[in-house]
Amino acid sequence: MDKTTLAYWQGNATALAIEGRAFIDGEYRPAESGRTFDSVSPIDGTVLAQVADCGEADVNAAVRAARRAFEAGVWSGLNPRQRKAKLLNWAALMREHLDELALLETLDAGKPIGDTTSVDVPGAAYCVEWFAEAIDKVGGEVVPADHHLVGLVTREPLGVVAAVVPWNFPILMASWKFGPALAAGNSVVLKPSEKSPLSAIRVAQLALEAGIPAGVFNVVPGGGEAGKLLALHRDVDCLAFTGSTNVGKLIMQYAGQSNLKRVWLELGGKSPNIVLPDCPDLDRAAKTAAGAIFYNMGEMCTAGSRLLVHRDIKDVFLDKLVDAARGYIPGNPLDPKTSMGAIVDQLQLDRVLGYIEAGRAEAKLLHGGSRVQQESGGFYIEPTVFDVSQHDAKIAREEIFGPVLSVITFDSIDEAVKIANDSDYGLAAAVWTANLTTAHEVARRLRAGTVWVNCYDEGGDMNFPFGGYRQSGNGRDKSLHALEKYTELKSTLVRLR
Ligand code: NAP
Ligand code: MG
Repeated sequence: MDKTTLAYWQGNATALAIEGRAFIDGEYRPAESGRTFDSVSPIDGTVLAQVADCGEADVNAAVRAARRAFEAGVWSGLNPRQRKAKLLNWAALMREHLDELALLETLDAGKPIGDTTSVDVPGAAYCVEWFAEAIDKVGGEVVPADHHLVGLVTREPLGVVAAVVPWNFPILMASWKFGPALAAGNSVVLKPSEKSPLSAIRVAQLALEAGIPAGVFNVVPGGGEAGKLLALHRDVDCLAFTGSTNVGKLIMQYAGQSNLKRVWLELGGKSPNIVLPDCPDLDRAAKTAAGAIFYNMGEMCTAGSRLLVHRDIKDVFLDKLVDAARGYIPGNPLDPKTSMGAIVDQLQLDRVLGYIEAGRAEAKLLHGGSRVQQESGGFYIEPTVFDVSQHDAKIAREEIFGPVLSVITFDSIDEAVKIANDSDYGLAAAVWTANLTTAHEVARRLRAGTVWVNCYDEGGDMNFPFGGYRQSGNGRDKSLHALEKYTELKSTLVRLR
């Protein structure tokens, strides 16, 4: 049983029994309409499973179950310590089933198995553990008030939280919602992307096994229509969303058209990575810049997709960068040696190739630029680097969500900051400099929810709030601040006499 071989994971994949039904009120059910959609593997284009295509009846049933569980207090009414214990059981089961969950993720989304076993699944378990461990330690406040009053400020769960999530980190992004939402005492209805529903469907059963009562955690696979039904639902109290800015805007409208449910959005990005001439380590910076855009096939909301390089170091730096890009070779995601997997589906493949075509017309191609491994039946694209002369070129402005890097040249710090901030987005940014003052000053000026100095994508710890300025969203995932999204704040004033 050598887990470092392709044969091992291929063997396991063949033996895998895949569940495709919705999980509602503690049991697996087909969609009431009987409709299904194909879950396709981007590794080779094969159909993995038929998945329940949930519609109105299923969404309503899931919300009803969630509401009933919430009102009954079987979860919301527990001592937080008891919720903690059950959530910790759940996380332990995720770790016990790590290989199986990672395999589902790799087959469904094309992510390298080395990543799903080390990042996605352990990361989801860790998120659940972190919020479980936090929830019996946070309390309310007794606040200063008139002498005849006792003033309490408390947090209460919202009720039914719907989570609509994307396909680039299917179980991890879902956990960033259901971890804090469940810890805070809410019931949850999760809608995974139809491109990657399998891991969410599987962990639902584990939740029940862990002792989380029926109805508290439900999964309704389906397309955008199922997400829309949740966002328009009058008995959903909160819609927590991770996905594109366009759909995020729709979700806010749906909330406005229905019950003004709380809407929390984690959206796209076009994050700048600024390399100043006094960068302390050009080799590490080049390797990191490549990782910032080519890790996870560039299907990263925080992708460092705009590399801003000072003219004085540009030639030296780009040589190093292209060298680093050569290290990303698209290959079979089931092979533990693979560093770059498949693009999630044909649609996304065509989208990314469309941007590469646009890039060929408006910029200079330095590396890559082609679809590869077509004979596999899967969807693979080389790491691609463009030298862009206009910083507002299409490929340098729009989120591509693929392995395509735009390099932009600048001459001064002011110019770099101006270009960096000239974006609709504001999710993340980075700056490389050996000067402490420059580092802090530039970090302050960058309009982004996360700023990295002399690194990129660091911070696996749950302690860092994660989210965007501007059209990259509102609210924050991770950290204790995430709990705020899933609670209402209540003032209670007690008059003593
Ligand atoms: P997407 O197309 O916006 O989809 C996100 C989710 O919304 C999916 O479950 C999707 O369902 C659903 N959906 C689609 N149309 C809907 C509608 N009209 N109403 C309600 N739900 C709807 O985004 P994606 O392509 O999956 O993911 C890529 C995007 O996510 C990128 O922009 C990326 O930057 C962003 N992202 C952000 C973060 C962050 O934390 N800021 C993290 C990861 C990804 P179907 O897929 O089934 O159609
Ligand atoms: Mg899939």
